[in-house]
Amino acid sequence: MVRMLNRRTFLKNSAASLPLAAAIQTLTPATISAETIAHAAISGRAPKLIPLPARLAPVDPSTLPWQQNIRRVAQSNMTEHDPAVMNIEEWADYWHSAGADIVFISVTGILAFYPSKVQFHRHGKFLNGRDFFGECVAAARKRGMRVVARMSPDLNWGDALEAHPEWAMRDADGSVLFNDQEPRLFHTCMFTSYMDDYVPAIMREINLLYDVDCFYTNGWPPIGSLPNCHCAVCSKLPPSNTTAYWNAFNDRVLELWHKYDAIAKEKKPESFFFANLGGNVRCGPNLDRLGKTAAWFQADNQGRTSDDPAIWGCSLQGRVCSAMMEGKFAANVTAAYSTGSVRWRNASKNPDEARMWLNETVASGMALYYHFIGSEAGFGEDRRWQKVGSDYFQWAKKHDAHLKPRRSHANIAVVMGQRTQLLYPGPATAHAHDYMRETTHGIYATLLNGRFAFDFVHEDRLEIERISKYRALLLPNIAMLSDGQCQQIRDYVRSGGSIMASFETSLYDENQQRRAEFGLADLLGINKSGDVIGTNGNAYYGRIERSHPILEGFSNTNWLPGAQNRVPLKPVQDPVLTVVPGFVQYPPELAYPPASHTDEPALVLREVASSRLAYFPGDIERTFWLTGHGDLLRLMHNTIRWITHDEAVVHVDGDGFIELFAWETTPGYAVHLLNYTNPNAHHGWLDTVYRLGPQTVGMTLPRGVKVKAVDLLRSEDTIPFRLEGSVLRFTVPRVDDYEIAAVTVG
Ligand SMILES: [Zn+2]
Repeated sequence: MVRMLNRRTFLKNSAASLPLAAAIQTLTPATISAETIAHAAISGRAPKLIPLPARLAPVDPSTLPWQQNIRRVAQSNMTEHDPAVMNIEEWADYWHSAGADIVFISVTGILAFYPSKVQFHRHGKFLNGRDFFGECVAAARKRGMRVVARMSPDLNWGDALEAHPEWAMRDADGSVLFNDQEPRLFHTCMFTSYMDDYVPAIMREINLLYDVDCFYTNGWPPIGSLPNCHCAVCSKLPPSNTTAYWNAFNDRVLELWHKYDAIAKEKKPESFFFANLGGNVRCGPNLDRLGKTAAWFQADNQGRTSDDPAIWGCSLQGRVCSAMMEGKFAANVTAAYSTGSVRWRNASKNPDEARMWLNETVASGMALYYHFIGSEAGFGEDRRWQKVGSDYFQWAKKHDAHLKPRRSHANIAVVMGQRTQLLYPGPATAHAHDYMRETTHGIYATLLNGRFAFDFVHEDRLEIERISKYRALLLPNIAMLSDGQCQQIRDYVRSGGSIMASFETSLYDENQQRRAEFGLADLLGINKSGDVIGTNGNAYYGRIERSHPILEGFSNTNWLPGAQNRVPLKPVQDPVLTVVPGFVQYPPELAYPPASHTDEPALVLREVASSRLAYFPGDIERTFWLTGHGDLLRLMHNTIRWITHDEAVVHVDGDGFIELFAWETTPGYAVHLLNYTNPNAHHGWLDTVYRLGPQTVGMTLPRGVKVKAVDLLRSEDTIPFRLEGSVLRFTVPRVDDYEIAAVTVG
């Protein structure tokens, strides 16, 4: 016989010795309300406040690893023809006068830019025995610039293939994978001895012959997707796009990374290895593991693509980098040349677009990195990119102290869910390669539209010490979460944190295994009642059942748009919104709801102590990205404000579509405002700037902090401010493309 429990006896029992999950399993759902379970899930310890952290202790920059003082990175990406036509002095003069701290110089691996003796390291056909690499290194050194030795291990030629057929990536039928633009080059497989033997041989040759500061590989590891190779080694691995493969892939990436790093250090201990990364939340290698290893995060998001057409692509990457590197060095490459699905890699792009990418780099906390392909073109056919880059670098150099962040001031965090991004295919009703990409852009656009200051946190970094500064965690369909991660989220809520979650969040474990019930069912007070329901015609609606702060601003309607897909839930007590199931949208004769009232929740809200929990059963973030419906936007904004008790630590009021960042810096604080108000914000490139008027800033500072000055770094002006208690207030009179209010304290 099942014991009937009321809340008090349940809590008493669960607080005794029974683990919570086991305690809940002893109950049948009919005997206990979802709200009671939610209370039980987060009770047990007194909630503790999450204060604004005190200022960090000062650090002497001379005690930091050298790369952490790099602010400007330069690259003229060298072509085979450059040794014949490039003026090395002109190249070095340009980057030096621009203020570059470090330059990339090509060693490569596809074509040697020096008289390499490593077998299969083919000399470029215009090299003619010359030590082009060595001359470039000398020219950079003469001007005080550091040097990155750039390699490319991803491709090689037929003679190497003939001698080492095992080096090639292969298709399922066993055929070699060749480069689709230059079919004489084959793709090398990262699991083969090519990476263990050939790449180290080149690194050791460079260390023997030259003085370089660090080593870098282009073209490896892959960005944004996982390899799919059927060579002899890979055939023994689990199938690509499974968590088992991803684990093997990560082990191999880390193995090679450590191996190359050790080789780099053979000559001098301050040298290191780093590789091409990027792909923001869809990065190939595990960001948590790599973030702990990497000394330099090279983000290769050079410009907008057809997959990621929104203007904030670089800032999105910067948020990922600051989550992963926690103060270590990160740079994002700005292509001065044309990026996108139709490319002209040897022609300058719109200057306003290039500048905005540089703006986003700085605003999101990364070092500047400017890149053009080929010196033949870059110092010959098209020189327009040069002034854009050098003007920007020189401006930034004046303000390095204020532009280098130490810590984010945001109090909202979005869980990035890298496993879900890479491995979850979307619900059966909407399988799509871009499913999670659209989800990411949906929550990103929502937060930008609402002018929220926010950070990303990785699913593998949910320790309470890392996330206790946040008032709320947002979980936009983070489908894959381990039992341990679910427990960390419970601990966070128990400490006073709040949650907004959606759709299939926690419905899968970290190995892509579907759970019978949400991993966070107890916390969120939800139980699923069936499989995902998609849309055929009209999507579902949410019927307003009662008033609530998250419905502020909605009037004259009984229902609101729902989302494209939803997980059906069992009824809860006093729902705010209930589901009106989707129905026919054509023909209009049949466009009415057969069932206009149900008890299926379209939103579940919980409030326990200071924690507030909101769960949307629909894929609301992605549906907003697909539709742009303002009701979904308002609903999410109201929800974020409600769960955070509207405790924004940074308010920026004014017209326009902006992205904002607020950082603690060495001199004080910096509020960055990026002006995206532009017809080309979501497609194509910016070709002009639409200036914004006054933006009024309110920023909460830790108690006792005294402000000396507020300076605008783009308009290079000093503005008045006032401190009301611990809230700093000032007005930025106008924002062209970008403005930074630099706060000096003391
Ligand atoms: Zn392979």
